[in-house]
Amino acid sequence: MPLFCKQCNGRRTPVFQKEENTSHWLCETCKNYTNENDEILREQTQEERDDIKKQSVDFDNSLTFTEEKLHRRKGVN
Ligand SMILES: [Zn+2]
Repeated sequence: MPLFCKQCNGRRTPVFQKEENTSHWLCETCKNYTNENDEILREQTQEERDDIKKQSVDFDNSLTFTEEKLHRRKGVN
């Protein structure tokens, strides 16, 4: 498995592709996907970038929410 990008030497993460039923490796620096043979398949689409951004925003929001909840509970006790 190509864990590191051959272009920038950055670390890749496997991203599951529903359509192909396999994981492709995404380099977050180069924004491209490669297969297991280290061949570049395609670039990450703008849609996918927005999706990831949205997910991380949701994650931040849920963290803030949990912290608020904990804080309130402390106040009651
Ligand atoms: Zn790269």
